[in-house]
Amino acid sequence: MAALSGGVRCRQLSIGSCGRELVAAVDTFLLDCDGVLWNGPRAIRGAAEVLLGLKARGKRVYFVSNNCSRSRDAVVAKLATLGLAAEPEQVYGTGYCSALYLRDIARLRRKVYVLGSEALCGELRAAGLRVTGGPQDAEELPVSICALDPEVGAVLVGYDEHFSFVRLAKACSYLRDPRCLFVATDPDPWHPLVGGTAVPGTGSLTAAVEVASGRKAEVIGKPSRFMFDCINERGAGEPLDPARTLMIGDRLDTDILFGSNCGVQTVLTLTGVSTLQEAQDNMASTCLDRQRMVPNFYVDSIADFLLLLTG
Ligand SMILES: [Mg+2]
Repeated sequence: MAALSGGVRCRQLSIGSCGRELVAAVDTFLLDCDGVLWNGPRAIRGAAEVLLGLKARGKRVYFVSNNCSRSRDAVVAKLATLGLAAEPEQVYGTGYCSALYLRDIARLRRKVYVLGSEALCGELRAAGLRVTGGPQDAEELPVSICALDPEVGAVLVGYDEHFSFVRLAKACSYLRDPRCLFVATDPDPWHPLVGGTAVPGTGSLTAAVEVASGRKAEVIGKPSRFMFDCINERGAGEPLDPARTLMIGDRLDTDILFGSNCGVQTVLTLTGVSTLQEAQDNMASTCLDRQRMVPNFYVDSIADFLLLLTG
């Protein structure tokens, strides 16, 4: 694939475009997972070798995922099934970071009403938060007889395959109290499934709650830089130096914009959601918001880093 013309950004990352020099100059790699390391049940070819190569060269690696349906341990287990080695301390998912936000930033002492999975509820409980809702939430009808818990002090919206009219009603009922916090794990609008199906993501569900409640959610996941700040506060070693950090992701509106918001260089990998054409369209746009969604580089696949790690 030829390098793009018309700008210094969005070049194909290769030996010819100083790829080895860039990789040598970077000490921390922030990796998205879905669409970068794996697609559905399959690891992307070469991903394991790249992770091993980064480790062998002393690079720090963090997995920064908007997926709130897997705990840190579950991400490590998923990586292991694909032959990819990692420690829980390297994993920053939106469930874990939402728990950190509610506990340490918002200093929530009341309960969290969760629209989301059991894994998301588990991350909150592991952080010492009290949880109600989740997939076991009762579905009384009519809505007028729904029991509201007077101890709820926050509504957290995540990826919720059990989203329903009753749960939407409960969430916006809690949010009628202006003291009730409103937080969303991530803004992802949709997710691709193997076979061409698309499913609504947390962003779609959050939009429904926002319209019903007339409020805006605080969004934890990419492109917000909150996860970057979480790594800085909790990660091992020196704080992240943006000039020596590289973000690799498959989605322009989350991963690449996250990199822009954190002041780090970005690489779009073409094994996931966003296409090279979309990156080119952003680059050609005069809209500043779209300009921020242009990666510094692109690769066909994470495997392209193998060549850049040698020599
Ligand atoms: Mg992804």
